[in-house]
Amino acid sequence: VSATQSAVSSAKVMQPSSLSADSVLNFARGDPTMYRAYWEKLGDRCTVVISGKDLMSYFSDAGNLCWFLMPELDRAIRRLHRAVGNAEVGEDRFIVVGTGSTQLFQAALYALTHTDKPDDEILPTSVVAAAPFYSSYPEETDFQRSKLYKWAGDAYSYEGEGAYIEVVTSPNNPDGAIREAVVNREGGKLIHDLAYYWPQYTPITRKADHDIMLFTFSKATGHAGTRIGWAIVKDKEIAMKMVKFMELSSIGVSKESQFRAAKILEVISEDCLNPEPNKVVNFFEYGQVVMSERWEKLREAVKASGAFSLPKYTQNFCIFTGKDTDSNPAFAWLKSKEGLNCDDLLREHKIVTRGGKNFGVCPSLTRISMLSPDEEFNLFVERLAAIKGSNSNGS
Ligand code: PMP
Repeated sequence: VSATQSAVSSAKVMQPSSLSADSVLNFARGDPTMYRAYWEKLGDRCTVVISGKDLMSYFSDAGNLCWFLMPELDRAIRRLHRAVGNAEVGEDRFIVVGTGSTQLFQAALYALTHTDKPDDEILPTSVVAAAPFYSSYPEETDFQRSKLYKWAGDAYSYEGEGAYIEVVTSPNNPDGAIREAVVNREGGKLIHDLAYYWPQYTPITRKADHDIMLFTFSKATGHAGTRIGWAIVKDKEIAMKMVKFMELSSIGVSKESQFRAAKILEVISEDCLNPEPNKVVNFFEYGQVVMSERWEKLREAVKASGAFSLPKYTQNFCIFTGKDTDSNPAFAWLKSKEGLNCDDLLREHKIVTRGGKNFGVCPSLTRISMLSPDEEFNLFVERLAAIKGSNSNGS
C-alpha cells in the first residue's frame, strides 16, 4: 500500500478521539489540520455567506491579465505580503491564482518552456531541484510526458547543457533548510517555491523578490481544502502563459474558494496590522508558539530515544516579529543514527512516515509531518521516545 493510499484510508477510519495504543499514526502527509483550534477561536469572523445568485460568471475581472482572479483576493494577497514582509508585491508584479500551488507549478513549467517550434525540433528542458527535494516534483513534472520539459533529478549532480529549470524550495520540504539556487548556469530559469516562507515556520529575514514565486493557502493558514495558491510573477509574458495554462486546464479557479481565502487573509492582515488589546493574537504569532512547542517536544523525544538525530537550525532576526527567532519547520527530517531504514523502523512502531528515497536521498532519513492534530502528535512523540537504538542507553 503506497504512502498516499494508506494516508487516505487512515484519514477515513481514524478520528482523533479513537486513538489507542494500537492505532497506526500517519505522519506521511502534510495535512495542516493542527491550525483548526485557532480558527475555531475566531468564531464567525471568517465566516462567508454565498447565496444562490452569487459568483456565477466565469469572469472575475475581465480587464485584468489574470481575468479569473477576484480583485478582493488580489488585494488581500498583496496586503498580507506587505504586512508580513516576506515577498515583493509592488504594482508591477502579476498575481496568478491557482487551484493550489500544485497547479501553478505545472503552469510555470509550461510558461517557461512553451515554444512555437515544431515538435521534432523541441528538446525537453531539464527540471531539477537540489536533493532532498519535495517528493511531488518528479511526478508532477513527468506525469503528462510533456515534450516541453522532463524531470532531471538532483540539481547538485546536474551536468546538462543549455536550458534548464531549477526549483528552489525555501524553507525546503522535507528538511526545512533555507536555500538558494545551486546550478547557476547560463540558460537557467528559476521557480521559487516559498510555500513555507511564513513566520510560524522560519524567521522572515528579507522580502523575497524572484522571477516566479509560488505560495499556497494550504501552508500559510492551514486551509489546504480550499485549494488556493498564488504565483507572484515579474515577467508579463510568463504570467500570460501561466494564465493560458489555467484557462486550458480548468478555465479559472473556484470563486467560492477565492472568496473564502480573501476573507481569511484579510482577517489575518488586519490582526497583524491593527492588533486590538485583549483579542486573540494574530495567526502567525499563534502558529509560531505552537510550532516551537512541538519542536521542543520532538527534540526531547529524540534525546530520550537516542536512536535518531534531527537537523540543527540557526536563529535569525525575523523582520515580522522584530526578534531573534528559531526555525520550526513544517516537517521533521529524522535520521537513524545507526543508518537503518528509518521509515521501516518507525512503521514497526505503527508510525507511518515518508522515507528518504521519495526525496532523492537514502532511506536512513525520513520525513515526519509536524502539522497533525495535538492528540496524534502527542502519541507520536511518546512512541518515538520509547524506541531505543541497539547501541544506545537512551540518555
Ligand atoms: N510546494 C511544497 C513545497 C509543498 O510542500 C506543497 C504541499 N505539500 C505544495 C507545493 C503544494 O501545495 P498546494 O497544492 O496544497 O497548494
